[in-house]
Amino acid sequence: MTELEDLGAGKEAFFRTLLESTKAIPWRIEWKKKTFSYIGPQIEPLLGWTPESWVSIQDWADRIHEDDRQRVVDFCVAQSQAGVDHEADYRALTADGRQVWIRDVVYVLRDAKGEVEAVVGFMFDISERRRNEEKVAELQKALEKLSYQDALTGVANRRRFDDILQREWASARRNSTPLALIMLDIDHFKQYNDHYGHVEGDETLKRVANILITIATRPRDLVSRFGGEEFVLVLPETDITAAMGLAKNCRDLIRKAAIEHRQGGPDHLLTVSMGVAACIPDRSQEVPDPLVREVDLRLYQAKRQGRDSIVDEGGGEEQ
Ligand code: GH3
Ligand code: MG
Ligand code: MG
Repeated sequence: MTELEDLGAGKEAFFRTLLESTKAIPWRIEWKKKTFSYIGPQIEPLLGWTPESWVSIQDWADRIHEDDRQRVVDFCVAQSQAGVDHEADYRALTADGRQVWIRDVVYVLRDAKGEVEAVVGFMFDISERRRNEEKVAELQKALEKLSYQDALTGVANRRRFDDILQREWASARRNSTPLALIMLDIDHFKQYNDHYGHVEGDETLKRVANILITIATRPRDLVSRFGGEEFVLVLPETDITAAMGLAKNCRDLIRKAAIEHRQGGPDHLLTVSMGVAACIPDRSQEVPDPLVREVDLRLYQAKRQGRDSIVDEGGGEEQ
């Protein structure tokens, strides 16, 4: 095989061809003068600036997006000064005002005395990679959202409920604040489906979920689908009286919506039953399970009481 030295006069042409035919854009800055002594002609098709227009490192700094400029210039100058090879990603500005994501990979050349003589490097166009990374991040966000959303109604799913309840329980326990739950179950929903069909049943589940969203207005309030035709609301910093008020509100809104249910209550309208429970967790209560059991029990009581009712700690019927 031929040694590089044997190429003689052809050596420079060989290197030039290599440098100027790659997609990466080579450049060299004389460090003492902070001026470009070379930049590959590929820079012009990419950014629109002619090779001749790259004179000082100020030209390079001026062509960096202003949000990246300070960070990148400070970092690259400090690393070069210290004689450390490095790389930096930034948005370069094109002559016609667009932005291109660049990865600049930089090597430091030293003279015989060991001082920094020049910095050389390659600029890579990483726009496509950045676009893909952004797309992946967006998809991840969407997936994350789907993983805690109930597909039919769009409210939180059971998994989300479990997570939030744990979190809110810990917070209520730490701060000695009340935490309330409202558990709601649609009355005679099996007959509703039997009479109107599953598609209409699904629509009604969505309507009920939407009503629940309108009553849970505080930022930390959570509406979730506990299962089938059963929903549960997690209401931080809410005592039993306030929770009861919200439950009544909810019942009134469902009455007002006047969803026909021929096989339902006496008015032939859809009704719901609710259990309401609240407590200030004490130090010994590590998990919220007893509160969930309590609210579930009260819902069951509301059903036994004849449905279309709300049961709270008094156990009495609320009409
Ligand atoms: P109760 O008043 O005691 O609550 O009686 P119910 O008929 O509402 O209760 P049951 O548990 O017997 O039936 C619940 C019904 O809810 C059964 C099922 O058809 C319906 N259901 C559960 N999930 C869905 C759903 O995603 N879509 C539809 N359309 N119906 C559902
Ligand atoms: Mg039901
Ligand atoms: Mg049920």
